[in-house]
Amino acid sequence: MLGEIRGEVRFKEPLSFHTSLRIGGPADIFVVPQDVDDIRHALMFAEREQLPVSVIGGGNNMLVKDRGVRGVVLRLEGCLGRAEFHGEEAIAGAGVSLSAFIREAAAINLGGIECLVGIPATIGGALAMNAGTTDGWIGDFVSAVYFLHPDGTLGEFKPGTAAFTYRHFNMPVGAVLIGCRMRLHRRAMAEIQKEMKQRLKVKKSAQPLALASAGCVWKNPPGDVATRMIEKCGLKGKRINGAEISSKHANFIVNRGGASSSDIVALMDLTRERVQAQFSVTLEHEIRIIGE
Ligand SMILES: Cc1cc2nc3c(=O)[nH]c(=O)nc-3n(C[C@H](O)[C@H](O)[C@H](O)COP(=O)(O)OP(=O)(O)OC[C@H]3O[C@@H](n4cnc5c(N)ncnc54)[C@H](O)[C@@H]3O)c2cc1C
Repeated sequence: MLGEIRGEVRFKEPLSFHTSLRIGGPADIFVVPQDVDDIRHALMFAEREQLPVSVIGGGNNMLVKDRGVRGVVLRLEGCLGRAEFHGEEAIAGAGVSLSAFIREAAAINLGGIECLVGIPATIGGALAMNAGTTDGWIGDFVSAVYFLHPDGTLGEFKPGTAAFTYRHFNMPVGAVLIGCRMRLHRRAMAEIQKEMKQRLKVKKSAQPLALASAGCVWKNPPGDVATRMIEKCGLKGKRINGAEISSKHANFIVNRGGASSSDIVALMDLTRERVQAQFSVTLEHEIRIIGE
């Protein structure tokens, strides 16, 4: 079945090449599918061999452990990489880059999703994480999600009100998202571009965008902001080997060079302990952790 895959199949592929943190041990079987059939072949192979399946989009919100990931890893960035626009509706493949999608829509005077600008993501990863900001998240714009079940059959999901919540999409277990349908609004390109520029400026001034990171490590606990709590614990700039709690944004851990996943996990453990001791709040991590 692996032989039927038209895309790439690699063995022992270092996942540090595929995560924004530049950290991660090897994937046993690494598949870069070319189309839905390739994904289906990979899923059916994994099911037959009883292997676990992990999905990576752009790898921008993931910590992969140093000893790597067993089973099959599907890397979807660039695969299913087309978007189509019909009136104020768009259909986007899971591998479409979110920023390219926003730019493409803007070029034909379609907006509404400017609040998502600057979030490094594939459409699939943005859906799975319900990526967004305090001004809106991707779930606000989605009218249907298309996916493959673990047995390779196609599914469609029309999200109700509780489907997308803070940094979470309540998707069917084991589903591989292959695309979605979104509602946009008519807006002049110049206006959209002006807003995007402004938002990018704010993001650049607040976040350490030039350094390797996985974005915010922690979810905000109810009624508070993780960044504030970490700062109050005096942890800004705290370093363990190459890993550092950013001195620009305390909810980011950056890889200053040569950091391992154990270094990141050690900083996370320290943060959790200190915040627990000072605020009696248990932080929950936003980043997805996979591997051994
Ligand atoms: C500098 C920086 C700034 C950031 N700023 C923001 C921000 O402002 N707001 C925000 O919300 N996030 C932010 N993030 C986090 C990140 O960009 C988002 O979480 C984004 O949605 C991740 O998309 P991805 O394609 O890289 O997903 P990945 O990191 O590859 O995957 C994330 C999760 O989604 C799952 N997944 C990915 N694709 C699929 C698929 N096709 N089917 C099933 N599951 C899938 C993965 O298994 C994993 O569990 C930032 C990250 C960085 C590095």
